[in-house]
Amino acid sequence: MQQRAETHRGFELQGYLETSELFYEELLGYKPEQTSLEEIPAEQWGEFTTQRGFDSESSGFYLPRNQTAVIREDDSLGLFHEYFGHGLYCEQSLTGRNLVDLEKRLLEEEKQEFDGKEFTLEDLKKFREGNQTFQGLDDFRKRHLGTYELFAVWTEHLLSGEFGLRDEFGRKYDSFGKEDQEVIDSAIGFSNQFGNLAAFYAFGLRKIQDQERLLRLSQGIFGNKLDRTRSVLHFGSGKPFSDVDLFVVSSNIPSTYDPWLDVRAYRPKDMDKGIRVLNPMITDPIVVGELVFGNEDYLNGLKRKIAAQPITEEAIRFNLGEYESELRRSKDNSLGKYLQDKNLRSARIFLANALALREGHKIIKSNKLLDCYHVLSRGGKFIELKGGIE
Ligand SMILES: [Zn+2]
Repeated sequence: MQQRAETHRGFELQGYLETSELFYEELLGYKPEQTSLEEIPAEQWGEFTTQRGFDSESSGFYLPRNQTAVIREDDSLGLFHEYFGHGLYCEQSLTGRNLVDLEKRLLEEEKQEFDGKEFTLEDLKKFREGNQTFQGLDDFRKRHLGTYELFAVWTEHLLSGEFGLRDEFGRKYDSFGKEDQEVIDSAIGFSNQFGNLAAFYAFGLRKIQDQERLLRLSQGIFGNKLDRTRSVLHFGSGKPFSDVDLFVVSSNIPSTYDPWLDVRAYRPKDMDKGIRVLNPMITDPIVVGELVFGNEDYLNGLKRKIAAQPITEEAIRFNLGEYESELRRSKDNSLGKYLQDKNLRSARIFLANALALREGHKIIKSNKLLDCYHVLSRGGKFIELKGGIE
C-alpha cells in the first residue's frame, strides 16, 4: 500500500478519475462538469488546512460557493467523496443546485461588505450572524446535510467497488458511529436491491428518461420478476426532475409510489375490465406510453381493443364511482400531500371522463381529460353532473 503510494498513485488517481467519468456517462448520461478538482500535496496538507481554518484530520473538502473539490493528493476515497459525491450532487440535484445558489449569493454579499477593506475571521463571523442569506443557508444546510453527506459516502462505496478498493472503504466505514453506519447500510442495501440507477434517482439526481435507462432501471427495481411481466410502459412527463411513471402489466409486481417513482401496476386479467369501462388510468398509458419492456403485439392488441370499445352505461358509472373515491382519498390527510394531490388529479380525470362519455366522447388521454376538467369547472358545468351522482 505504502509503496504503491510512493510510486504510481498520481497516475492511478488520474485513471480513477477518467474511468469514473466513463462509468457516470454510461450510467447517468452525464459526469461532473462544473466542479473543479484541487489536489494538495500530502506534505502541505497540514499547513493548507490550518490556513483555511479547516480540520486537518479531514481528508478533503468540498466548497459549494466555487464548486471546488479539494483533496489530499492521491487520496482516491477523497476523490470519490468530494468530486463525484458532493461535486456531482451540487451539479445534478435540485437540493445541491439550491445550496450552490445560496452560497454564491452569500459570497456576493460578503464581497460587497468587505470589498477593499481589511477584515478578520471574527468580522466575517459577526457579519454572518446578522445576515439573512447566511441564516437561510444555515437552515438549508441543517435540513439537507444528512442526504448531502450520505450521497457522498454512498458514492465512495460505489466507486471503491468499481476499483477494488473496498478494503479502504471498509476502514473508513469502521470509523463511523453506529447510527451513521446504519444509515449508510440502508443506502447500500437500497442500491444492492434496486440497482445503482434507482439509488441515484432516489437521491434526487437528474434523470435522463430514455429507453435504455428506463429498461436498466426496470431491471434493477423489478429484478427477475421482469421475466414474467407482459409489458412495462413509460408515460408521464419524463422531465429531468419529475418522477418516473411506469405502467406495468404483471401478475407479481405491485403498484408503488415514491416521490421519484410511480409504478402503476395491473394484472393481465385486469386489462379487459379496465378497457371495458374505459378506465383512463389503464387506457391512457396504453395509448400514450412508450414500450420499455415486453411484447409489441400484446400492446397493439390492447390498443385495438380500446379503439373498438363502445361507450356503455357501466363505463360512465364506473368513472363516476372512481371520481368519488379518489376525491374522498384526496381529503384524507393521513395519506400526505403527495398522494392527496395525486388523488385529486385522478378524481378530476375520472369526473371529466364520466362527463365526456355521457356526452358520447371517448377521450383517452389523461392530459386532454384534465384540460376538459378545467374548461368545464370554469363554465360551472359540474352542477348538472352532480345531479347524476347523488
Ligand atoms: Zn462530505
